[in-house]
This record gives sequence, C-alpha cells and structure tokens, in this order.
Amino acid sequence: MSIKSFFAYLLNLLNLFIKSLNRLPHPEEAQDTSKTVANTNIDSVIQDWFKNWKVPQKYHSYWKNNVCVHIFDTWPADVLNTYKEVLTVTPSFVVEIDGIRHLYSLASWFNKGVMAHEMAHNSYSYLSSDQKISFELAFNSVSGDDWIIKLRRLKSYMDKTNAMGLHVEGHAEIYRYRGEYMPASLKKFYPKLF
Ligand SMILES: [Zn+2]
Repeated sequence: MSIKSFFAYLLNLLNLFIKSLNRLPHPEEAQDTSKTVANTNIDSVIQDWFKNWKVPQKYHSYWKNNVCVHIFDTWPADVLNTYKEVLTVTPSFVVEIDGIRHLYSLASWFNKGVMAHEMAHNSYSYLSSDQKISFELAFNSVSGDDWIIKLRRLKSYMDKTNAMGLHVEGHAEIYRYRGEYMPASLKKFYPKLF
C-alpha cells in the first residue's frame, strides 16, 4: 500500500467514523457576547477558517484580497437601513457591491464557522447559472447521507428570494458543517475552496 492510498484509507475510515457518530466535523459555535470590534482580530478568524477548513494555500491571498470584512458591535444606521430584510434573519451576510464581495457581521457572531458559511456564499457567486443547476441536481441526488437528506428537505434552506428555488443556504451549510468531508460529488461546486 502506497503512503497516498494509506492516507486515503485513513481518511475513509475517519469519514465512516464521523458518519457513525452522526456528528458534524465543524459543529455550531455559539454567539460570544464578550467579543467586540475592539478585541476581535479579523485576520486571526480568517486564519482559523483557512486552517480548520483546509483552504488550499494557493487561494489564501485571493480570499484576503477579494473580500472586504466589516464587523460591528451593533449595526450602524446605514447598514440597518440598506439591509433591513436580511438583518431580520441573520447576524452575518455577504453582498456584492460594484463587483467586490463584502462580508458584514456582528462581532459577537464573527467566528470561523460563520466565516466558512459566508465564504461558501462568495464561492457560490462564482458559479454560472448552469453550474448552479448542476449543483442542485448533484445535491438532490446525494443518497445514503441522512444529514444532507434532512438538509435538503428543510424549506428554510431553500432560498425564497431565488425564483428558481435553489438551495443556496444548503450549499453554504454543507461547506460550513462538513468542509472537506462533504460528498466528493459536490466539491466541484465550491470554487476556490478546495
Ligand atoms: Zn447564508
């Protein structure tokens, strides 16, 4: 057995182990109300995401240079006014302004898992409409994975604002909770993350 196939074998065992525990490799992190803009180091949260989600080194500078991260202790009036609707459902979100991706978050919610979720949205934005449809087909045909089957049944994960009813949130949650342990058939729908 070569070293490479030995590691593939180990990885497979690990995958089975995680599945058998029915546990997600990147569990939810609670809000941390002690975190403020003053005591939060944005770069170290980004590094934490890079490290824990094994973001390939070759994309690190891309993500650091192409996403502007903004954190706040409480939402300023202009952000509140502009993103009223989205802020009723989430403490973190991404938007594209003049071709630049921006991530907004309350400091108390700004952690590596939230970072992973929002960065999956950024990655999704690079898919063409055809690729989004292909993701949908691949996502809907994953079998034997209870967590994903449950996820795609949740109406809340269907993007209601998307006329095509695509699982935009499902796409982000798979990356956020599974990372590299997601089904191999889905990884190609995560540009610059694998
Ligand atoms: Zn989301």
